[in-house]
Amino acid sequence: MGMQIRKVGVIGAGTMGAGIAAQVANAGLPVVLLDIVPPGANNRSVIAEGAVAKLLKTEPAAFMTRAAAKLVETGNIEDDLARLSDCDWIIEAVIEKTEVKHQLYRRLEAIRRPGSAISSNTSTIPLAVLTDGMPEAFRRDFLITHFFNPPRYMRLLEIVAGPDSDPATVDAVAHFADVTLGKSIVRCEDSPGFIANRLGIYWMQLAVCETLDAGLTVEEADAVLGRPMGVPKTGVFGLMDLVGIDLGPHINASMARALPPSDAFHRVNRDIPLIGRMIAEGYTGRKGKGGFYRLNRDGGRKTKEALDLKTGEYRPEHSPRIAEAKDLKSLVTAPTPHGAFAFRVLAQTIAYAATLVPSAASDIAAVDDTMRLGYNWRWGPFELADKLGTDWLVRRLDEEGMAVPALLRDAAGRSFYRVEKGRRQFLGLDGAYHDIVRPEGVLLLEDIKLTARPVLKNASASVWDIGDGVLCLEFTSKSNALDDKIVEMIGKTVDLVRDKYKALVIYNEGQNFSLGANLGLALFAANIAAWGEIDKSIAAGQQAYKALKYAPFPVVAAPSGMALGGGCEIVLHADAVVAHAETYIGLVEAGVGVIPGWGGCGEMISRWRADPKLPRGPMPAVAKVFETISTATVAKSAADARDLKFLRPGDGITMNRNRLLADAKARALSMVDGYAPPAPPEFKQMPGPSGAYALRMAAEGFRARGIATPHDVTVAEALASALTGGEADYLDVISEQQMLDLERAAFLRLIRTGPTLARIEHTLETGKPLRN
Ligand code: NAD
Repeated sequence: MGMQIRKVGVIGAGTMGAGIAAQVANAGLPVVLLDIVPPGANNRSVIAEGAVAKLLKTEPAAFMTRAAAKLVETGNIEDDLARLSDCDWIIEAVIEKTEVKHQLYRRLEAIRRPGSAISSNTSTIPLAVLTDGMPEAFRRDFLITHFFNPPRYMRLLEIVAGPDSDPATVDAVAHFADVTLGKSIVRCEDSPGFIANRLGIYWMQLAVCETLDAGLTVEEADAVLGRPMGVPKTGVFGLMDLVGIDLGPHINASMARALPPSDAFHRVNRDIPLIGRMIAEGYTGRKGKGGFYRLNRDGGRKTKEALDLKTGEYRPEHSPRIAEAKDLKSLVTAPTPHGAFAFRVLAQTIAYAATLVPSAASDIAAVDDTMRLGYNWRWGPFELADKLGTDWLVRRLDEEGMAVPALLRDAAGRSFYRVEKGRRQFLGLDGAYHDIVRPEGVLLLEDIKLTARPVLKNASASVWDIGDGVLCLEFTSKSNALDDKIVEMIGKTVDLVRDKYKALVIYNEGQNFSLGANLGLALFAANIAAWGEIDKSIAAGQQAYKALKYAPFPVVAAPSGMALGGGCEIVLHADAVVAHAETYIGLVEAGVGVIPGWGGCGEMISRWRADPKLPRGPMPAVAKVFETISTATVAKSAADARDLKFLRPGDGITMNRNRLLADAKARALSMVDGYAPPAPPEFKQMPGPSGAYALRMAAEGFRARGIATPHDVTVAEALASALTGGEADYLDVISEQQMLDLERAAFLRLIRTGPTLARIEHTLETGKPLRN
């Protein structure tokens, strides 16, 4: 790769510019963020500074750690433009006005380093317009990089290169955005709205029109268009509330201006008087007085309300039952108003998507990728078409007199995707199937599964051969909850790797790495008073985790999403971790009235005791762990997990989710030569009963101040006894096994209490903690 990107400049500190700057900082790079000097301002950089201050408060958080915010240097374009001269990539994210952007580009030409990349985050202005009249050097270094909001969390980055763009520069930006910023790149043609918004805006406008025509309620429309179609449950109306209803008319008008008269968008781009009235009266969605939905706080009560599309008045929200939604095909074939509505929206959306290839997207896979990554759809339009069957879809479109684009008609009788000789392929415009090629450094279990069978498998876990002597342990239980079958599989896997392989990676492609132990099973065992069974199963888990730790080969955990409770403890027992940047790790057992029972207590104490910055002595490390566990603290990112010591300084962080498995495998292989398992720790100078007493007093203090509940104190007491070494005397040396025994005993004491069972029951039922 030619150009190295070491420093980034962002101009425009609005929603997008500030969020993009934060993600660059999250990746550990310095970034300069500039905005205008507002008229009459005392502090000339107030906009950029204010933007960073605001980002530190937004939820979900824009920064992965508070330290990341320090990498953002703020300034203004009048005094500080020259600070962009050592940036390798300058991103323009100012207001959507061609003249403003042009003026800025001319000023940038005077100061930027020759050969530095420069890109616009524009949503609607074509690259041809942005580069019009600009010098050749600018056109060579320029491209469009279209991020999605919020930039930290939305994985899609659309990139548009112009005819004069230097391919090496575009590749360098794309590579950096992929590996360092963690984005999935889709290359787009220079056409209005690029791919995701072009289809997304059509889909929204179409859905609103069809809802009104069919006389459905907003709840019905969202229930039909949401979950059954793999679309987030906000559906269409909920999404408009989120985005801002006032943006709709502007976006629609700009699309209408840019698209040729033949484009199907014009047919759905009707003026909707109700929406005009809502905007005029300030009902612009969540940021305004309300939208299609609102929370009515009148009279001190909170009622969820929805807008009646016929009367324009709010009424209590109802949750419609979409009886037809057994699966997608039964929904769209149901002879009911819901079924007809579902068909009309879905079929026309797929048909419109088919008109975007090749003018907006080079192939169908690019369209599907953008909708999955940019709109969080579970399936893209062509994947949805395959679910319905292309033959059936074309026939039904014909019957309804709806337009059938050539791409769709040509595909009739075939599927848009297929798996051939273990490779996923898509149907090209040439009528032939082509392999979906993953970028180098991307390894997915999803792909491996196309050809391989698991090396080991039971109801809760599978083990895969991922090549070069490395096995991958995958949880497959619901929510990847940990149970006896997984514990059993860990034992078998350790034996197998020891005999025949070099290393083990623990990884899966679920939404969450693991939410922890299966609470339902724990509750069941407790309800029948199977205390002996519970004791045995905890002991088995402890042994399995230690078997991973002391195995004569490297074990690398590669979590993504939530890794809670037992899921966190398995990470703590790995010899190394490569975590996805968006990993949320925590020991949350106290929330359900127990304590970590699979070795988490001892592992955390060892880590804090190894920190040279912490004062020596029996208490400091124990107190830190007590605080983390008793408050069920969950790290807000992998970087945050390092500060909390769920990750060690040497553990890796991978920004791009798709690169996690390959990175973890490489890490495991790098450890194979000369590998020796760690030496078991000895716990010396444990605080013992007096330390436990001090921690209990602290918990009582919290209770007196109303921060802790009575059962919190009971849990804290049990936790304190396990962490301080039980009856240990200052001179005793406690073994790892003794620590495990203390942990297990404390766990068993708690699980026998009524309030703990009430907590577990409540969490199972509501998904929320019970504060008893
Ligand atoms: P915004 O209104 O939140 O922020 C724009 C910022 O640009 C403001 O802070 C403004 O003070 C600043 N600005 C105006 N003129 C400037 C100049 N000459 N120099 C420096 N700063 C200047 O807008 P936004 O939503 O962040 O959008 C920025 C760009 O990103 C636009 O091109 C928009 O089309 C695009 N975009 C927006 C979204 C989105 O969801 N909001 C998504 C993708 C792309």
